[in-house]
Amino acid sequence: MNESDFKLFRDLLVGLEEVERDHPVAQYCSAGEMSRLIDLDVNHAPMSDQDWADAMGQLLRWTPKTTTRHFFNQLFGGRQSKAVIGDMLAVWLNNSMYTYKVGGPMILMEKAIINALIKRLGMPDTSAGTMASGGSMTNFMGMLMARDSSAPDIRSIGAGSQLTAYTSEEAHYSVLKNAAFAGIGRDRVRLIPADEWGAMDAVALRAAIRKDRKAGMQPFFVNATAGTTVLGAFDPLEQIAGIAREEKVWMHVDAALGGAVMFSKQYQYLLAGCASADSVSFNAHKLLGVPLSCSFILTRHPQCLYDSFANDANYLYQTDSDEINPGKISLQCARRNNALKFWALWKSIGSEGLEQIVDQHYNLASYARDYIRSHKDYTLCHDTPSINVCFNYKHIPAPHLCNSLYEASELMVGYGSFRGNEFVRMSIVNPNNEEQDILDFFHRLERHAERL
Ligand SMILES: *Cc1c(COP(=O)(O)O)cnc(C)c1O
Repeated sequence: MNESDFKLFRDLLVGLEEVERDHPVAQYCSAGEMSRLIDLDVNHAPMSDQDWADAMGQLLRWTPKTTTRHFFNQLFGGRQSKAVIGDMLAVWLNNSMYTYKVGGPMILMEKAIINALIKRLGMPDTSAGTMASGGSMTNFMGMLMARDSSAPDIRSIGAGSQLTAYTSEEAHYSVLKNAAFAGIGRDRVRLIPADEWGAMDAVALRAAIRKDRKAGMQPFFVNATAGTTVLGAFDPLEQIAGIAREEKVWMHVDAALGGAVMFSKQYQYLLAGCASADSVSFNAHKLLGVPLSCSFILTRHPQCLYDSFANDANYLYQTDSDEINPGKISLQCARRNNALKFWALWKSIGSEGLEQIVDQHYNLASYARDYIRSHKDYTLCHDTPSINVCFNYKHIPAPHLCNSLYEASELMVGYGSFRGNEFVRMSIVNPNNEEQDILDFFHRLERHAERL
């Protein structure tokens, strides 16, 4: 990169930092207004660097700020600078993670963190894994391995079978989508009821599997969720593992959200039973604050990764063994280096630092719940250890409260529902946040509600 582009880049970053400081919630603007406000058209003629920088600066200025202290809207937030450096260098290098020839030590680095995760989770040493573009896709890979080990012919002759899958009604929507992609069919996914805490009812799971088998179906897959998207609930993994073993179905743990507790001595008990799963998906881009996206699929059956995803291609695989050519176990062909940012962070702060991040989220969430409990205008909707704090304020409908906070550029926070009850869902996932930021959140919300 030449000097002048370096300077442009630095200036854009400095400008962005200023905007984030002065406007931690981007000014609200409807999509219609926005496309009139910013010149988004691409031109036939080239642009001067100055005009280009202005156009770029405009775009950055209006983009929602997910890394600031006022963003509680999604299951990611904050900015970890070591991880950001790692990711920017990955872009700089622009490797693709399919062969050792093209990725070199990056392939070994990715394997090193995959093995570290396998060890943390207590899975057998012989387990293996890879990465994909997000939790939806790593869940997909888990389902495909299960399908192919249960009905290997599907890969060549297609579906049309009696396969049935099981997940709780609180599971992430990717399970249903993936069943459609995989030729299983959405209607063949049995939604098992959740208990009052949002965790799968294991007794109902066993009953559903047996009922299907009696009816001539072929149960093949149970998706257990470790950290549900709305409530942050953990399914009873140990019980589900026992049922999966008895009923001979593949057990996948969707630990996209909650897997991060593997780093916490205090909360890792929530994952008890996860080590017996056939496959596990985990997102480091949620609770750990690694930039989007950073998602892993791990399995105790390395051969299944090959059975489901391998393909020969003599234009690609020209050197080295399969072991270090992870294109052979990939959902995709070209694959960006999403491991480096995680490695850069982990190297820098250690597992101890990752543990602190996770514990801090839980501590801040319990601080928020304490605040809610001690203020009579609030109702706490769920009282479990979870980084999602669910509440209502003064009987203001949660969608109205959240949307008007957004339109007033006060706070970014979303709402959720459980058993027909709607509530504000405040996701506490920003490793840079402190108690003061939680207080600020409530104070802003209260002042805003006054004005409503
Ligand atoms: C976020 C989430 C996913 C999806 O992950 P993406 O990376 O957004 O595709 C899957 N499962 C659960 C439980 C999640 O919270």
